[in-house]
Formats: sequence, structure tokens, C-alpha cells
Amino acid sequence: MKIITSVRKMQAWADRRRSEGRCIALVPTMGALHAGHDALVRAALASADDVVVSIFVNPTQFGPREDFNAYPRHFDEDVEILGKLSSGLAVFAPGVEEMYPGGVQADRISVDVGYLSRYLCGAFRQGHFEGVATAVLKLFHACRPHVALFGLKDAQQFVILSRLVRDMLLDIGMVGVPTVRAADGLAFSSRNAYLSPGQRKAAVVVSQAVHGAEEAIGKGEQRRAALVEIMYSILRREDDARVQYADVVDADTLQPIEEISPGQHVLAAVAVYFGSTRLIDSVFAQAPGAACRKI
Ligand code: AMP
Repeated sequence: MKIITSVRKMQAWADRRRSEGRCIALVPTMGALHAGHDALVRAALASADDVVVSIFVNPTQFGPREDFNAYPRHFDEDVEILGKLSSGLAVFAPGVEEMYPGGVQADRISVDVGYLSRYLCGAFRQGHFEGVATAVLKLFHACRPHVALFGLKDAQQFVILSRLVRDMLLDIGMVGVPTVRAADGLAFSSRNAYLSPGQRKAAVVVSQAVHGAEEAIGKGEQRRAALVEIMYSILRREDDARVQYADVVDADTLQPIEEISPGQHVLAAVAVYFGSTRLIDSVFAQAPGAACRKI
């Protein structure tokens, strides 16, 4: 497996592959790989000639009181996991100084994601999506992929990055991969490693909450307040669960909707703390009924 740490070498590798007419897929990750990442890499291997997995814990998407320093870093284990998936993968693992040659101070140029970061996680993680979009744009320039794969678990991230590609005229196909879950429904996440055994058991309510909302939407519930209450009522079953938000927004604009229209695509999403560990989950759903055609 090829491990590349410099942007220049990554670009040269990608240019060579491109000149041979090969299709490159990129799977951006922050490492500490689990079954969710596996699914992305497998989907990438099925859709492209060459797959680059980036491993980069991006400092600019962490707030000052968040877990950047504590974030799990298991580079050797990650390489082993990836080697088992395919020995032909390229791993792009740049250092912070390679990705931010001007430093990570606030006066650097960064991507403004506009109103899309106003709700859900964006409302509570100031600058998070600007950091994500900036780092992913850099990864796109370094790895020069034809397609990029992201998990739908991080639904707001996927919507914002898809918009980045569209609005910045990037010639990259965006693929959203369904959330991979443990047997009890909990979405795999690198942060699950922080949970105590008791918290891990209690965390099952996170997926139950979004699936509860999905089911109610499928049965015709259109009111945001009722859907939010369904999610809270499930999350309240566990005393350890401290809800940061539970909401239903339009799947494209990410704006809250008081009443879902027939046929509307929406996103039900939650963020919940267990102790100091913050977990998120979400589902895209479509309201029953035909959408009115705009005249
Ligand atoms: P991360 O390393 O947490 O930044 O995640 C890297 C990529 O894996 C992102 O596109 C995530 O959305 C995706 N991902 C994380 N967890 C899962 C999961 N349980 N199922 C599917 N994709 C996931």
C-alpha cells in the first residue's frame, strides 16, 4: 500500500493516474477506522480504478473546547485495516503544516458555507463546517479525485459538501453512503470508543429517536413539534442522555420546517451527549404524497 504524506507527491501520483485514464475515488477520514469507514472504502473500490483514503485529523473543524487533542489516532492499525481491504489503496496522511502551510490562525482564507451551518450541528459548533469545507476542498486539490464518498450519518456535512462541489464548480461526483450500524442500531463512530459500557448500552436511544421520527413521517405526521416530541420522548428513556438538539429540517436547505409538505424530502437529526461524549445521528425521509409541481 502506498502512503503519501506530501501534497506535491499526492498531486503527482493523482496526475499520473489521471493521465493513464484511471478514475480516482477519494474517501476522506479522520482515522480511527471502523465498519462505517470500511463501507465507504468498499463502495469506492467498487466504483473507481484507484482509491485514495485520506487520514487527517483536521484542527480547524474542532472548537476550542472540543476533543482535537484527545481525538483517537491509530495510524498503524488504520493502515492494517486498509491493507486488508485492498493492497492497492493509496493512503494520504498529511501533517497539519502540510495542509495549512500558512498556519491555522484565524486570519487564513477559508470557505464560508453560509446559511447551511445555521441549524443542527452548525448552531452549536461555531466554525465547524467552515473547517470541514476548507479541509475537504484542500483534500480535493491534493488528491484530484473524480468521485468522493462520504457517510450519510454526517448528513449536514454531506449536504454542505455537495453544495460546495456545486457552487464552486468542482468536477467531482459526490456519493453518499448509508449509515453503518451496530446490531442494536447505534451508528458506528470513532467517538463510540469514549463511551463507558453503561453509556454504550444507553446510546441505543440515539438511533431509535431518528428512526421513530422516520416512522412517524412515513405514517403521515407532518408537524415539526410532534416529530421533535417523538424524538425527545425516546431520548428521555435514558437518564444519561443529554439532548443538544432534535429537529426536522428540509433536506436541501437544512432550514427547520414547521409543517412538512406532501412529498417533501426532510432530515430528522439529533445530537446527544452521554457524559462528555457527543453522538449524532440522522435519517433522510420523504413525506408520503405527491409533491405539488411548481407552476
Ligand atoms: P470521520 O473519520 O468521522 O471524519 O468520518 C469519515 C467519513 O466516514 C465521513 O464521510 C463519515 O460520514 C463517514 N462515516 C462515519 N461513520 C459512519 C457510519 N457509521 N456509516 C457510514 N459512514 C460513516
